[in-house]
Amino acid sequence: MMECDAQAVASKVVDVLRHRKVPIGISNRHVHLSERDFEQLFPGQSLTVDKPLLQPGHFAATQTVTLKGPKGVLNNVRILGPLRPNTQVEVSATQARELGIKAPVRMSGELEGSPGIQIISNFAEVTLEQGVIVANRHIHMNSFDALLFGVDDCQRIDVLVGEPPRTVLFKNVVIRVDPQLVLEMHLDTDEANAAGLTGMKDTGQIMLGSKG
Ligand SMILES: [Zn+2]
Repeated sequence: MMECDAQAVASKVVDVLRHRKVPIGISNRHVHLSERDFEQLFPGQSLTVDKPLLQPGHFAATQTVTLKGPKGVLNNVRILGPLRPNTQVEVSATQARELGIKAPVRMSGELEGSPGIQIISNFAEVTLEQGVIVANRHIHMNSFDALLFGVDDCQRIDVLVGEPPRTVLFKNVVIRVDPQLVLEMHLDTDEANAAGLTGMKDTGQIMLGSKG
């Protein structure tokens, strides 16, 4: 009898965890810099923390840059730390249009064939050959959550986001499993605006068993 009770409690706990909502982080335009590009843009400086992000070790830096495309300029673009092997610029589709570039929707790090841009600081400028993308919507989670939700790394699923009348079913949400990261869905500002998100305690509901 005791054993049965324990099993019932365990499956209830699993059920609650499987149906819990996923916190949403809205990504505004930002830049990840390589060590080389950072040193060129900010000679003699180190990248300093302005605000820690939810993901452990990740932060918004105090340093900002200007992005200059063929048709327009974006000022005060935040650098996100830590530094990375390759420089990557993430903008929304609206901002790409303002800059006058055709940025593809990609997962982070998939920069092959993406357009370049000029990155300008108060000290110098760097011309990037490639690296501007619109980030593909995705959810970070650890292996335990992946097991609970029944998903694998790189799988695409559906997530219901927002409140009526602006509720949106986002398809093709890519699962990224990483033991270092915590459960969080990343959307860009175009996606967040479409779903009427406020940037305060927004959440999404994973549609269990969906195939994106
Ligand atoms: Zn992310």
